[in-house]
Amino acid sequence: MDRLMTGDLTLLIVDLKKSSRVTVGVPHHTPGGRPFMPTPRRRPGDENAGFLGRFLAEEMQASFVCACNYFFDPNKSLENDYSRAIIRSDPRVLVEIHGHGYRNTENDVEISCGSKKEEVFAVQLMDQLWTGLKADSIPAGLKELKIEARFDRIYFRATRAATIKKPAWRAYHIEIPQFLRVAEDGFGAPEEGKVFAKILGDTLKKILAFEFGGK
Ligand SMILES: [Zn+2]
Repeated sequence: MDRLMTGDLTLLIVDLKKSSRVTVGVPHHTPGGRPFMPTPRRRPGDENAGFLGRFLAEEMQASFVCACNYFFDPNKSLENDYSRAIIRSDPRVLVEIHGHGYRNTENDVEISCGSKKEEVFAVQLMDQLWTGLKADSIPAGLKELKIEARFDRIYFRATRAATIKKPAWRAYHIEIPQFLRVAEDGFGAPEEGKVFAKILGDTLKKILAFEFGGK
């Protein structure tokens, strides 16, 4: 069984790559068809966000830390196994993958680096993603994605996410819409989600190579 199709199991997936200074984190993964985490107040889960995170980690040869069906919200504190695994991976860059429905924003993809001050990095990623999505080979549905990173225009600002606010690394908090995460049959992510993760990975690699000299 794929570890991300966890059913009722709660587990932490940690795949640390010593050679990489990039970590992909997914704190709220639930399998497709399970819209809530088993928290006391039934916090909405980020259905199948783990699949997008894993595609991205493979694309970037990055460390991968994914909390599946957690009983609490792990990225709001640094004192739990999810956050400790991220600290242990010693990243220069953390890319945290999340998923949302359409209740709170009309944007498809939202990018935040956690503050107005760090907005410049989020906007840089947005601009370069737009460029990447213009290529002829990109499926039509992806060309029309509404991506937003300007701090005043996003809903998911990640200002309370301890993993995003930690100054030891640069952090990107990326919200990905349901239609890129959950295939129609409910199992795994759709093809367009894989293509999006590839473009996101290519774009981040270019930015990070330029700024950090590769790894
Ligand atoms: Zn989330």
